[in-house]
Amino acid sequence: MRKRRRLQGNCVFCGGSVLATTIEHAPPTTLFINRYRPKGHEFASCARCNNGSSQQDQVAALMIFITAEAIHPGHFVAQINKAALGVANNVPEVLQYLDFENPRELTEIDNSSSLDVVAVPVQKRLFTHWLNPWAAKQIAGMWFRQTGKVVQEDQVITVNWVSSALDADLQFFDLIENALPSHFSLTQGKLSFHDQFFYKFAIDVDCTFGAFFSIYHNAVSFFGAVLAYEDAVRHSKLGFGNLFQTSAAQGIHRTLVV
Ligand SMILES: [Zn+2]
Repeated sequence: MRKRRRLQGNCVFCGGSVLATTIEHAPPTTLFINRYRPKGHEFASCARCNNGSSQQDQVAALMIFITAEAIHPGHFVAQINKAALGVANNVPEVLQYLDFENPRELTEIDNSSSLDVVAVPVQKRLFTHWLNPWAAKQIAGMWFRQTGKVVQEDQVITVNWVSSALDADLQFFDLIENALPSHFSLTQGKLSFHDQFFYKFAIDVDCTFGAFFSIYHNAVSFFGAVLAYEDAVRHSKLGFGNLFQTSAAQGIHRTLVV
């Protein structure tokens, strides 16, 4: 009951004190094949936090489908075209961050053989402006779904993308996936959407730390965590990757630990 009252009450993305007026789908419907997405991972959101990420959703969809096509050739062409059209219409500058003219064939670290994967160079801005904040929001949703708690202003969200192109045989994927005990994926009746989206996670008993590893279309993944800001400061030498905090004033925003 407590969860339901909160779902109808305040936005789960900006500290929990701002009245929610919308329902946010995280992950977004646009990430699913033919936009066919079962219910089960929606969140109360204020208009600012919801609208603020609709363009991020489109950019994330384009990146995820391009990568999925590289890993699973021939399956995602229609999805790429649709996502590219959305990005071209709404945030055309993002297409300039992708260097389709100069793809790079990836080689294994020991250079002994060439992988059958081609990487499209991207500008860092694609991550700093679009994909990192998008991932942070996804993690805030996972945290709420699994703990019933809103990420607080004194907590930090970390984001680390895991490149499937550099992990072509998915060994690192398997390692993390097997290490995290709990699993979430969307289902509808007997239909599983695991192939399109799932995450593994671990949360400590006091809900002070959560680790999440999510995978989209068996191709794109990021590792994220929610932890106390003071713990992030204490262990800052570990280098947590991209850090985000949230607040009623700003919503989810990039932060630095000092
Ligand atoms: Zn909000």
